[in-house]
Amino acid sequence: MQYPEWIWQNGVIKRWAEATTHVMAHVVHYGSSVFEGIRCYQTPSGPVIFRLTDHNKRLYASAKIYDMAIPYSLEQINAACREVLKANDNTTDYLRPVAYRGLGGFGLSADTPTDVAVATWKMGQYLGASVLDQGIDACVSSWQRFAPNTLPAGAKAGGNYLSGQLVAREARRLGFGEGIALASTGLLSEGAGENLFLVFDGALHTTPVSAALLNGITRNTIITLAREAGIEVIERDLPREYLYLCDELFMCGTAAEITPIRSVDGRQVGSGKPGAVTRQIQELFFGLFDGKTPDKYGWLEPV
Ligand code: PMP
Repeated sequence: MQYPEWIWQNGVIKRWAEATTHVMAHVVHYGSSVFEGIRCYQTPSGPVIFRLTDHNKRLYASAKIYDMAIPYSLEQINAACREVLKANDNTTDYLRPVAYRGLGGFGLSADTPTDVAVATWKMGQYLGASVLDQGIDACVSSWQRFAPNTLPAGAKAGGNYLSGQLVAREARRLGFGEGIALASTGLLSEGAGENLFLVFDGALHTTPVSAALLNGITRNTIITLAREAGIEVIERDLPREYLYLCDELFMCGTAAEITPIRSVDGRQVGSGKPGAVTRQIQELFFGLFDGKTPDKYGWLEPV
């Protein structure tokens, strides 16, 4: 990976190599961080940050769940995101704000200072080249998501991604593009780092926030755009086998964008190619960045 030159840490822009954290910082041992992943897109009217404010609001929501005080305002974190993009001459396409418990105590309940950094890098296509067009083969993981009232799935916290690593690494080891996890109920949850949409008879079905998933901003974007386009959207619990039986299936997330799934556990989904509804959702979503889909909600925030 090629690292960009500049990064923002605790209020200042620094060289990438200088943005360090002590090995005894709380976060290194206990996964005590909250973070965001945000995409930047080039549009006809210049570079934009997609739903910057909504992402950073979720950062504060995650911190609230973990009782972690972030020593900056939302406006300051938004400004830091813009600053780090500009420092790197808008050559990157992904932002990563992260707030973490730093050095200052080793107890689980230690009130360490909260350190904050905003990194940026070039993400490109997260699940590999050409997947947006051709789709991926997915598998259901042997690892379930955490049960309700164990780790809060609604927080985007560093420690949650130990679960995501188990799911994603198992899938990769078995030769699949991505893994899909079931909730502790045995019902469908989400991908290692993506939400799920299934298509039945032209309607979109997506798993509910009670299914141990992160309430994705891309998921919310799709629900909004689909309903406006007259596509029915239903949030519901779904059993595993519906992955095999649906007409179309895709995953979505900031990194994965809208990635069609052409098979699950070796069973072809629908025609084995991205279907009409998936294509329409891709067009509506990517249309936001070339001006074909009007930005009615102020989602495109200027750098
Ligand atoms: N679920 C998980 C576990 C994720 O890590 C992500 C990526 N942030 C998502 C869903 C999708 O969320 P978003 O659309 O907000 O990126």
